[in-house]
Amino acid sequence: MGLYVQKFGGTSVADPERMSEVADHVRRTVSRGHQVVLVVSAMGKETDELLRLADRVSDVRPGREMDMLITAGERKAVALVAMALNGAGVESESFTGSQAGIITDTTHENARIAEVKGDRIKASLAAGFVPVVAGSQGVSTDNEVTFLGRGGSDTTAVALAHCLGADACELYTDVSGVFTTDPRVVTNARKMSHISFDELLEMTAAGCPKPAMRSVEYAHRHGVALHIRSAFTWESGTWVNNEESTMERAIVTAVVHDMSEAKVTISQVPDEPGIAARLFRSLADEEVNVDMIVQNVSVAGATDISFTVPTADTSKAEQVSTGLGLGNVTTDDNIGKVSLVGAGMKSNPGVAAQMFETLADAGINIEMLSTSGIRISAVVDGARAEDAVNVLHAAFELDRPVV
Ligand code: ADP
Ligand code: ASP
Ligand code: MG
Repeated sequence: MGLYVQKFGGTSVADPERMSEVADHVRRTVSRGHQVVLVVSAMGKETDELLRLADRVSDVRPGREMDMLITAGERKAVALVAMALNGAGVESESFTGSQAGIITDTTHENARIAEVKGDRIKASLAAGFVPVVAGSQGVSTDNEVTFLGRGGSDTTAVALAHCLGADACELYTDVSGVFTTDPRVVTNARKMSHISFDELLEMTAAGCPKPAMRSVEYAHRHGVALHIRSAFTWESGTWVNNEESTMERAIVTAVVHDMSEAKVTISQVPDEPGIAARLFRSLADEEVNVDMIVQNVSVAGATDISFTVPTADTSKAEQVSTGLGLGNVTTDDNIGKVSLVGAGMKSNPGVAAQMFETLADAGINIEMLSTSGIRISAVVDGARAEDAVNVLHAAFELDRPVV
């Protein structure tokens, strides 16, 4: 008999029919003698709708009230899923994050988990219930309701799996696992049966939406076995652990694209010590997350600096940069970041060259570049990003299983 934390995302609980399918799935797991703790997200696009609603009500959106609002989505979903389970003959009870003992720091809209008590969840399991826990929420050390941020339900599931010593944390979603690239963009993207934590972390850092990056970090740190799988079928998905796979050792594992960043360029910046320090200190003080940075070679004592930021922070970054009066500031929202990820890159020097040749052959210009030990990222014109993903996926033959 095993203990499994099963997390279902928004699409998997989008309507009453989907909820009964989830209930049936849980009923079958329980009938095999396993214990289950469920974590669910808000129904369908409800989180987006609540955010839009807040936008329409007022320009003043205190973090405390935003969290009170957003967490209502998951609260509604857990009550309905628990009802669906009881209807399917599975005794079940719902819990808010606070009731489940998920204690967070005092940051609103993006709180971090400080501790998971889980006493009531353990008691519920011991009494023979299937507890259904609201994802992405908790209670702060100041006793306020907090939201863990977008995609935070994955983190709730992993944190509960760790606290309860579960055999695995199963993240059910609308695709059957982690693919060699976004299956919406490349039709012959291949599902990986296994991936290492290092590679998955690098993929999520490069912009892969599934699973949420913080949940992967948490699972890696605490040794929680992750299984990403389909909410629509019973097929095995992608397992994540630290074992070196002998089956799938490729130089390049995946292509990831991210359309959520914008480029800021400051031209004619004086080329002298301390300028970059002032710029990036000011951005950090305003909590602007800078990703890639490029500085050109100095010509006649002046240089250009470009960097990327999340599109949501573009105007803040522009204001800060302009305010410093360093040079002429321009921004470009229409960019895409395309990354190659693979643990085998470290020992294979030809990967970067092949990536650039492939993009050049497709007539795609590279605007910025950055690398880590197991990743190469290029910023390209946003309109060509999906083309770039397709040609790279083909060039590195990622559709073919590695033997
Ligand atoms: P959920 O709401 O279930 O938490 P998300 O909608 O946030 O899940 O993420 C799932 C989506 O991520 C999939 O529909 C898929 O299109 C997209 N995706 C992008 N890249 C990948 C990839 N490499 N592997 C799997 N899914 C990916
Ligand atoms: N419903 C929240 C969101 O869409 C949390 C989650 O699904 O993980 O971000
Ligand atoms: Mg989601």
